[in-house]
Amino acid sequence: MTQRAVFLDRDGTLHVERDFCRRPEELAVFAGVRDALWSLRDAGYRLVVLTNQSGIARGYLDEAMLARIHAELQARLDGAIDAFFHCPHLPEPDPAAGPNPYVQACACRKPADGLLRQAMDLLDLSPNGSWVIGDSARDLLATRAQPVRRLLVRSGKPVEASLRELTRLHCEPEAVLDDLPAAARFILAAGRPPRDDAARSINAPRA
Ligand SMILES: [Mg+2]
Ligand SMILES: [Zn+2]
Repeated sequence: MTQRAVFLDRDGTLHVERDFCRRPEELAVFAGVRDALWSLRDAGYRLVVLTNQSGIARGYLDEAMLARIHAELQARLDGAIDAFFHCPHLPEPDPAAGPNPYVQACACRKPADGLLRQAMDLLDLSPNGSWVIGDSARDLLATRAQPVRRLLVRSGKPVEASLRELTRLHCEPEAVLDDLPAAARFILAAGRPPRDDAARSINAPRA
């Protein structure tokens, strides 16, 4: 059976964005994120992180260190995440690192949708009834070809430039919210039938 999911950006959505998180000790998870993610899980959503990690192509960290960072993040979230998918690539070499096998045009670096497609295929997820939460335009653009519902979070930063780009590309978010916990509340409220309508359907005379 295909399942609904919430596709999550990582840096700036789950934890404080910094100039490339290079070690587990640098993770600073935003307040309320753990409980918010568990509330989504309890409502039946699979939780999947889709993240650009060009720090690998830039030579700032390697795949083993990224795995350690994700293990630490998962521990801080009490295991809320079902799976992490990352893009290690960069289309042009970073001057400091030079060319290496990770420097390549790829189909997975957001706003491309390769990570989303991998996740949907491997975990048997349905785009219908699924959501994406991110703090930048490219997070939402990666879902543009799918009927995924889109939420943009501020996480303390201005969003005007992202909104202009999303509007220009006809990929507007359904809402702009302060942070991930607010986005989780929005999803839970959207999935719940309005109280009045539920009462009406129960009391409605049968035709
Ligand atoms: Mg981000
Ligand atoms: Zn890639």
